[in-house]
Amino acid sequence: MSRTYDDSDQAVELANRTREFIRQEVIPVEQELLLGGNEVSQEVIDDLRDKARDTGVYAPQVSEEYGGLGLSFRDAMTAYEQAGQSLLGPPSIRVDGPDEGNMHTLEMAGTETQKDRWLRPLVDGKIRSAFSMTEPMQGGGSDPKMIQTTAEKDGDEWIINGHKWWTSQGTESDVLFVMARTDLEAHPYEGCSFFIVPTETPGVEIQRDVPHMSGNGWGVSHAEIIYDNVRIPESNLLGERDEGFSLAQQRLGPARLTHCMRFSGTAERALETAKAYVAERRSFGEPLADKQVIRHELADAETKLHAVRTMVRNAASRIADGEEARTEVSMCKVFAANTVNEIVDTAMQYCGANAIGRDLPLSYLYENARVFRFVDGADEVHRRTIAKDIMDDYDPAMIDTVTRFQQ
Ligand SMILES: Cc1cc2nc3c(=O)[nH]c(=O)nc-3n(C[C@H](O)[C@H](O)[C@H](O)COP(=O)(O)OP(=O)(O)OC[C@H]3O[C@@H](n4cnc5c(N)ncnc54)[C@H](O)[C@@H]3O)c2cc1C
Repeated sequence: MSRTYDDSDQAVELANRTREFIRQEVIPVEQELLLGGNEVSQEVIDDLRDKARDTGVYAPQVSEEYGGLGLSFRDAMTAYEQAGQSLLGPPSIRVDGPDEGNMHTLEMAGTETQKDRWLRPLVDGKIRSAFSMTEPMQGGGSDPKMIQTTAEKDGDEWIINGHKWWTSQGTESDVLFVMARTDLEAHPYEGCSFFIVPTETPGVEIQRDVPHMSGNGWGVSHAEIIYDNVRIPESNLLGERDEGFSLAQQRLGPARLTHCMRFSGTAERALETAKAYVAERRSFGEPLADKQVIRHELADAETKLHAVRTMVRNAASRIADGEEARTEVSMCKVFAANTVNEIVDTAMQYCGANAIGRDLPLSYLYENARVFRFVDGADEVHRRTIAKDIMDDYDPAMIDTVTRFQQ
């Protein structure tokens, strides 16, 4: 059942339309193709996108000028939540990462020329993009300050050299958003920049797709890429020179929340599946749904899902008010990632063997949900941010008032 939040009428209407669209149009395709072990082609996604446009749920987060519905971040979020109920939901309504984050960055920091060339076709679904930041062992991962990739100015061009991996959708993308060091003397947070690199540029060498478990159901690779003397024009610098980390933060804050929104839909689908199973399946003379241990577990799962969605709304409202809300976003990310994994696991437990079987979506949701604890910052990195914030403003008087510490 759906809970009540302080969403606007527009957001509630969007949620209802998206939910109906996902149930009527997307889940049947998911069941026929994905759960049937068949390939989900670009044509299938294009067809779902046409239907999403007709239904008025396509790209709710993008301004009307660039082909979206022009809703605020806070109002569009209900569509992300509903889209997350199916693995094919986010690409169908064009709220899928990494494109969604890249569209947001372009809209925020791109020049008019960059927006015309890249943003419009991205929103239309005519091209795909990737965000290339994480590097192999000696480079930047959880600690982005370790970034090794460089971009050197040569006349009116930049020359990029480096090695990245886990670049989602790198192989399928038409354009890569690459983070590189542009001032080797400066601290990386003050000496990195973002570049827009067409994938066909000479020197972009896709080494391989890193083999991995699961996926999101629709041809998303995680590429290992060498950038070998890749020359791009000055005009492909995105945002200001040396302000790449500041831009990345503006991208990643909302992007982390959109992950929370989509994955909360995953948890909702898993719970709905488990509720239907335990209501229909009998054991020891009664429906599983009558066993109190199961009722309590499902009640706890629903409560935690409600907490996730409430936290996301709180952080999204702060961002909408112009705050960076770093601690709130980190709290949300780490709590949502762990809660969604826990809920999907609980839902699986009460569906018995069928949880592992591919007839139900649970095993796909389970494999897909596990990545949530790494992407856009592992749990420990977000806990580090939260801990730094809470430890920064402790009050020494809290122990001075305890007599035995004063002696
Ligand atoms: C499915 C998927 C898609 C991805 N897509 C992209 C993408 O499109 N673009 C991109 O650039 N990257 C992408 N990534 C990479 C992702 O951002 C990184 O995995 C993440 O930032 C962690 O970096 P790492 O894997 O190098 O982990 P490492 O830095 O090697 O860390 C390993 C582990 O150490 C622990 N750890 C790290 N720091 C601390 C600490 N301070 N205290 C305690 N423990 C710590 C954490 O548990 C962490 O998981 C993707 C990853 C996955 C799994």
